[in-house]
Amino acid sequence: MEDAVTQIKQKLDIVDVIGSYISLKKSGRNYKALCPFHNEKTPSFMVSQELQIYKCFGCGVGGDIFNFVEAIEGVDFPRALEILAEKAGVKLVKSKDYDAQSQIKKKIYEINEITTKFYQYMLLKHKVGTRALNYLKKERKLNENSIKIFRLGYAPDSWNALCGFLRKKGFKEEDLILSGVAVKRSSGNDIIDKFRGRVVFPLINTDNRVLGFTGRTIFDREPKYLNTSETPVFHKSFFIFGLDKNRLNIKKTGAIFVEGQMDVISAYQCGIKNVVCVSGTSLTENQLDILSRYTQDVAFCFDSDFAGIEASYRAIEMAEKKNFNVRAVLIPEPFKDLDDLIKSDANRAKEIIEKPIPIYDFFLTTFLKKYDKRTAIGKKKIMEDLVPIFSKISNRILFDHYVKQISSELEISENTIYSLFKEVPSEREKSYEEFRELEEKSLPQVYGLEGHFISLVLKSPIDSARSAVEKLKKEDFLNEKVAEIFNRLKTYLKDRKTDINIKTFLNKLDEDLKEITSELYLWDFMEEGDSEEGKKVLERELKEVIERIKKDSVRRQLQIISSDIKMAETRKDNKEVERLTKKFEKLSKNLL
Ligand SMILES: [Zn+2]
Repeated sequence: MEDAVTQIKQKLDIVDVIGSYISLKKSGRNYKALCPFHNEKTPSFMVSQELQIYKCFGCGVGGDIFNFVEAIEGVDFPRALEILAEKAGVKLVKSKDYDAQSQIKKKIYEINEITTKFYQYMLLKHKVGTRALNYLKKERKLNENSIKIFRLGYAPDSWNALCGFLRKKGFKEEDLILSGVAVKRSSGNDIIDKFRGRVVFPLINTDNRVLGFTGRTIFDREPKYLNTSETPVFHKSFFIFGLDKNRLNIKKTGAIFVEGQMDVISAYQCGIKNVVCVSGTSLTENQLDILSRYTQDVAFCFDSDFAGIEASYRAIEMAEKKNFNVRAVLIPEPFKDLDDLIKSDANRAKEIIEKPIPIYDFFLTTFLKKYDKRTAIGKKKIMEDLVPIFSKISNRILFDHYVKQISSELEISENTIYSLFKEVPSEREKSYEEFRELEEKSLPQVYGLEGHFISLVLKSPIDSARSAVEKLKKEDFLNEKVAEIFNRLKTYLKDRKTDINIKTFLNKLDEDLKEITSELYLWDFMEEGDSEEGKKVLERELKEVIERIKKDSVRRQLQIISSDIKMAETRKDNKEVERLTKKFEKLSKNLL
């Protein structure tokens, strides 16, 4: 069956398949159309021939030809397979499909289990694992017991250590690829180990079966983390790391989402046994549905620098809609993250984890501390931060409670606060269609100008791409993920002679950055396409976007300097005031 899928994908082009249902128009490197899955007046449905994927920036649907046919025909996967097989002229062997599927799954579980043991042996018993073991024990402070409980291993830095081993055991190449432990070499036909030179975390489900792996490089290679891609047994949007070991405690005390696998393991080691994480993806509805079998209490753990706080808004909203009781845990300064705190003070970590605070109290105290609530500007800023979060509270009692509290904290009338909070939901009360149209430009709303910049560079000829990335610095970016993509892009472009190859660039990225980048690549509403005129428009747009990002960045720096000046003034440090004022003046010239 998998063979049929590959054959079909080789024979069919996504542009022809989708083009046979709706009319596509060339737009730059991509194609665009009015989305067949939601009502819209301006096209936001994009198709990429290079990546063989589609994505609607209005309603969010996307995927490959199989997803498209399933959605547009309203059929399940086997039927979509039949439809596409017919189009492609590929014969399907149809007998006992289901049986075949379960045989395949059985084989993959078997391969994953043997692979886990192989990696464990390499880490704990073989001398090639010494460096990895040192990393886990000395740098990460894990003890041998934890390493064994989580079945950590080491994938040797070799092209075919694992493949060779599994082939000797009688497994076929295609099964190794299907299970995700091996990949086809980009040139030639032979297969190679997917994980090389990496500490390996098996992804284990609640039946104690290994579904896949996450590998962390120990040689500073990119990507830092590599995950098993989707396989017949591993679906990342359904998987929660740590649930296998912590689910009984989670039933009792609720679940806490932390940043990564290492946090889960080091927490477990010091006796905190209710943490989990999702890796290579943001929290999904599927994951919340699974979690709800065990608890309705969930908390999110935030690092002391508040990284990821905005990214969590969606997760919080989703969890609330599913009736979770949502709380927050804040890692106190000067500790970077949970792992860091555990390493220096395990008892304190336990105390903090045991007492999560209600999410809205957390936001309120955080934002009240961020600005001076006694000044008019401070009040305004605090409200600006509060509105997007508090206006979404759907529970009337909670809502009233916080309006009262905010009103007394800021000394602003309750009526004013009500009206500010209502401005946002009232937009939602518009008709469904209008709402969709509003949402349509959802990508720039999330990644904004900065995302738009990346999107433009990815489509520019090599020379303008390179000169564009040289004009900005990582610090100019506000969105962390986009900043990271920018950095990778800069490195990638450094000694490249030909135009960007989107596929090779994507392969250098971690799963989550990969997802964002392919969306940004598809994000494209230029009318002029690949023509000379189109190139000019692209260049002009790029120049403008760079200017605007620079200005935004300067403005942010000026804000910081001006608050530093105020601080220096209260300290009566005149020298510092003078120095900062000069800096301010110099920098502000950039805005002219
Ligand atoms: Zn759509």
